[in-house]
Amino acid sequence: MADNKKIVERMTQLQNQLKTWAKEYYEQDQPTVQDYEYDALYAELVALEAEHPELVMADSITQKVGGLVSSQLKKVTHTTPMLSLSNAFNKEDLIQFDERIKKAVHGSYRYMVELKIDGLAINLRYEEGQLVQGSTRGDGTVGEDITNNLKTIKDIPHQLNEPLSLEVRGECYMPKQSFITLNETREAEGQNVFANPRNAAAGSLRQLNSEITASRNLSTFIYTLANPAAIGVKSQHDSLNRLDVFGFATNHERQLCETIDDVWTYIESFTDQRHNLPYEIDGIVIKVDDFMTQEEIGYTVKAPKWAIAYKFPAEEAETIIRDIEWTV
Ligand code: NAD
Repeated sequence: MADNKKIVERMTQLQNQLKTWAKEYYEQDQPTVQDYEYDALYAELVALEAEHPELVMADSITQKVGGLVSSQLKKVTHTTPMLSLSNAFNKEDLIQFDERIKKAVHGSYRYMVELKIDGLAINLRYEEGQLVQGSTRGDGTVGEDITNNLKTIKDIPHQLNEPLSLEVRGECYMPKQSFITLNETREAEGQNVFANPRNAAAGSLRQLNSEITASRNLSTFIYTLANPAAIGVKSQHDSLNRLDVFGFATNHERQLCETIDDVWTYIESFTDQRHNLPYEIDGIVIKVDDFMTQEEIGYTVKAPKWAIAYKFPAEEAETIIRDIEWTV
C-alpha cells in the first residue's frame, strides 16, 4: 500500500510535468524542452501504467490525443478520430511490436514504411472534387477550421483531377529553408524566433489572418485517405499511389517491407541521411499495409495498434539529459 502511494505520487508528478510541456508545445507553439526529454518522461509514465493498470488516472495524458482547439477558430468535428502514434525507440521495441502483430494476425502481413514528417496533422475534405474544408487534428475528435489558411498552401489542390467526395489526412510542415529565412527576418525585426520548423508551421497555420499563413511558405505531405473503402482502396501502399494520382503531394521516400529486419535496414539508412532532406523528420512510421489486417489488429483509445513511430535517438548536442529526479 505504501509503495502504491509512492507510485501514485510519481505518476502525478509525471502527469503534471508532461501536461505543462504539452501546453507549451500545443497551445503556445513554444516548447521549453526537446522532444526526447518529453518522450523519456512519457515512456516512464506508460511503463508505470502498464505495471499498475489499476492506478491509471481517468484524465491521464496517455489516454488522450494531445492538442487543443483554440476558442478563436471555428470548430470542426472529425468524421473519424485523428489519432496519435505509439513510439519505439530502438530495435528491441520494434521486435516487440512485430511480435504483437504476429499474435494478432491470422496469416501473412507486410509493412509500409514512411518518413515521419515533423509538422502538424491536417484533414482536408473534398466534395465532388472541390476542397470545402481544412482542419487541424485538435484533440483528435474536434479540430480547428483553417480552410482559408490551407488554401494558401501551393501544393494543396483546390480541385481534384476527379470529381470525388473524400477526406484525406497528412502533415503540414515548414521546409528547412523557409524556416531559416523566416527566423532571420523575425530576428531582424526584433520579433521572437521559432524554436524549430514544427512550431513555426503550427504557429503559421493556426492564424486568424490567412495572409500571414500565405507568407510562410508551408508545404504538405498527404499520407492517408480517411475512408479508403469508399473508393475501393485496400492497402496503405495503394492509398499513397492513389493520392499521387489525385494530385496530392505525397512523400516518395517510402518502402514496402516484408519483415521487421527489412524495416530496421530502412531505418538505419535514414538515421544519417535525414539531415540531407530539405524538411525535418523526427522518425519513421511503420504501418501494417493491408487495411483488413489493420482492422483485425485494432486501436487503443489514442493510437492504432497496427502502426508505430520509431523516433530517432537525440543528437549528440542534445544528449545532456535533464535531471528530473524522483522527488517522492
Ligand atoms: P506524434 O507526433 O509522435 O505522432 C503522431 C503524428 O505523426 C500524427 O498525428 C501525424 O501528424 C504525424 N505523422 C507524420 N508523418 C506521418 C506519416 N507518414 N504517417 C502517419 N502519421 C504521420 O504524436 P503526437 O501525439 O502528435 O505528439 C506527441 C509528440 O510530440 C511526442 O512524442 C513529443 O515528441 C512531441 N511533444 C513534444 C513536447 C515538447 O515540449 N517538446 C510536448 C508535447 C509533445
